[in-house]
Amino acid sequence: MPRARCSDELSTMHSKTTKPNSAELPVMDSEEYRKWGKRIVDEMSTYITNIRERRVLPDVKPGYMRALVPDHAPEDPEPFTNLYSDLEDVIMPGMMHWQSPHNHAYFPALHSYPSLLADMVANAINCIGFTWASSPAATELEMIVMDWLAKMIDLPEHFLHSNKESHGGGVIQTTASEATFVSVLAARTEAIGKVLVELGVIGDQAREEQARYDTFSRLVAYCSNQAHSSVEKAGLIGFVRLRLVDSDENLSMRPDELVRLIEEDRKEGYIPFYVCATLGTTGSCSFDNLEEIGPICKENDMWLHVDAAYAGAAFICPEFRTFMRGIEWTHSIAFNPSKWLMVHFDCTAMWVKDSQALHRSFNVDPIYLQHENTGLAIDFMHWQVGLSKRFRALKLWWVIRSFGVKGLQKHIRESVRLAAKFEAFVRSDPRFEIPAVRHLGLVVFRLKGENELTEKLLKKMNSEGKVHCVPASLKGKYVIRFTVTSQYTTVEDLTRDWSIIRTTASEILSQTPAGEEHRTRVFLKDTRKNPDFGTSLLLANSPMSPKIVNGSFAAIFDNSDVLFEFAKKLQQLKLDVQDSPGKAMRRRIKGMLMAGKQYSLDSRMDLVTTLVSSAKTANGMPTMRENSMEAQEYYERGEMLDSAVQTDDMCSPRSRRRSKSVDDGISVPDLKGVTLDDSINEADLEEECSSSSSSSSPEAETRHSTRQMNGRSNSCHQCGATIPTM
Ligand code: PLP
Repeated sequence: MPRARCSDELSTMHSKTTKPNSAELPVMDSEEYRKWGKRIVDEMSTYITNIRERRVLPDVKPGYMRALVPDHAPEDPEPFTNLYSDLEDVIMPGMMHWQSPHNHAYFPALHSYPSLLADMVANAINCIGFTWASSPAATELEMIVMDWLAKMIDLPEHFLHSNKESHGGGVIQTTASEATFVSVLAARTEAIGKVLVELGVIGDQAREEQARYDTFSRLVAYCSNQAHSSVEKAGLIGFVRLRLVDSDENLSMRPDELVRLIEEDRKEGYIPFYVCATLGTTGSCSFDNLEEIGPICKENDMWLHVDAAYAGAAFICPEFRTFMRGIEWTHSIAFNPSKWLMVHFDCTAMWVKDSQALHRSFNVDPIYLQHENTGLAIDFMHWQVGLSKRFRALKLWWVIRSFGVKGLQKHIRESVRLAAKFEAFVRSDPRFEIPAVRHLGLVVFRLKGENELTEKLLKKMNSEGKVHCVPASLKGKYVIRFTVTSQYTTVEDLTRDWSIIRTTASEILSQTPAGEEHRTRVFLKDTRKNPDFGTSLLLANSPMSPKIVNGSFAAIFDNSDVLFEFAKKLQQLKLDVQDSPGKAMRRRIKGMLMAGKQYSLDSRMDLVTTLVSSAKTANGMPTMRENSMEAQEYYERGEMLDSAVQTDDMCSPRSRRRSKSVDDGISVPDLKGVTLDDSINEADLEEECSSSSSSSSPEAETRHSTRQMNGRSNSCHQCGATIPTM
């Protein structure tokens, strides 16, 4: 690239002053923008450098901000200095610090300086690249950088824009959820189109329309019961029936079950048309086996989409590509560079084998969007739901070039190494268990015994705000998900976090009175809206209690939904509301009814849990211990779904038939070579453990911060000294 020209252009940009039409308005001018821009860049850099010193989770209650912000917009302009000072006073107190090295919740949502800078530029340009003509550079860069990324993860050639033999290519979508939705819509169009051709009704408008709607109502899609709830959502908003396929003991989709469901549906007159396979599930980072599912889709003429939201980034490392064996069978695949690849949100890379399927779904061509090169160049508006499109390719481009493929690989490998390290910590303590194989950077663990113990542990850990995790429900087992998210996380951070977890566990275990495990309990399946949906993330944001959300990060239910669910629950429990415990509860229900607002699942579940625990055992809910004979008998009578089986083995007998494991032949550097220590040993842990009970002490905090963040050093433990990152 002719760099001299770049700097010429920059200096031209600087020398000519563009005054806004609103120059007479007392708004920020370019001088002030420069001043504040520089200051904010400086201060955000300090924020990031010192992020370790902040609590990961905020300590605020819902509505905290009302008291801090006026309830009317200001009539007169405010000086920017006021706006800026509200950042610390109003915003930061209510922030979860996603970039903190002690944040182990969800999946990573990383950023990096090159990415942030790219977005500053993109935001200043602020192009809305719906067509090639509306910003040729934006479209062309997106095509090029998506080809780069495809080659980085070794996708088949037919996914490349540059491959003249195929209609494939990549596009940047906003989220993985949207990519799944787009794939459902494209698959739906394809499936309906084929039926219309078979029926020979094309061209006969009335018959075609009738056949289109008839076909539409018979479509059925499939995903595993470990898939992310965004697949369920895509089915909901795409109006297609979705069936959940049972998973095996590796939490991978069972191909024999998929075949059974397809056959069953065909017999009933449905048209199976779409499978969403997951590479790296949210609950446990398990993998569906594309080599098994692909041929089934081919045989049944179904679209195969791959949701690799988190794990896809790992495929830039050849040793992790075993997980994507069979990718050649797929019609579309998506992953989020905005998760693990340090391209900040939003950025979802999606590739399709045949972009015409997208065109046929999204093509509307009003005259005002046509241009001289229509048909000759890609117009990304035909590849997505919305019309307008942010210039996201720039940040992806700058990140890839700044780190280089090698730097990014190093970053991924280091996260995996740290996760293996954390796994070794957990395995060293006999009070804990790891109920699902660790894959990549996600460790799931729990305290042995009742779910309630782990639930209490997590709640207490999160309430102190020094380390943050979220739970998941894996076939009835409540587990804590621990992801190595931040590129600033070091072994010292992990040691400190593990110490906190261990100390908290000791407190929980010492407070558990003997016999407590005999209390009436609520099975996880009873707390779910859709009991078959396996990948439930349970939100555990302090100070609220952990609540169940199907695989996504939030769920809101309105009053009628609350009441409907609530009524169902009461009926199921054979409870009469009159017998419910006390006036306080009735007041709360009434309050929810009268407030006319939307209520979170939190509120709903509080009610249900309180009612259930006060329902004693007389109402048909069995009181049983994990692993008890009772539980086993209850299961054998068929009264308990897989997801509620409380045995030490994670899977019910019903799910023991497993698919050929995607782990077969894998050569990932799992625990091999990872010991409890290269630099740490049990004694250190004990020391950290005892110091962590007072780890809020300034010395402890300082010790940790200085170890990691040596001033403004550009060196990052993940990627070595040469990386121009934080
Ligand atoms: N799919 C999987 C497997 C996920 O883990 C997630 C979120 O973590 C999603 C989809 C949803 O991602 P997004 O927020 O980009 O829609």
